[in-house]
Amino acid sequence: MPGSVSDMVVKIVVLFLVAMGVLAMFGKLRFPGQKRLAAAKCRKCGRYRIGKGQCSCEKGRKP
Ligand SMILES: [Zn+2]
Repeated sequence: MPGSVSDMVVKIVVLFLVAMGVLAMFGKLRFPGQKRLAAAKCRKCGRYRIGKGQCSCEKGRKP
């Protein structure tokens, strides 16, 4: 029956749009975290800094 086929197509399209919306939500949620992680990285060695202090590589140079 053509009617049931079009219903299936509509359901698939709706599911696809919902999935896209969920992915967009996850993308918005992830972006701030990624920016924070990038800001937490050391600019010289690229390792993640723990806390707000300087990286261990900078601490090692100035005993
Ligand atoms: Zn470093």
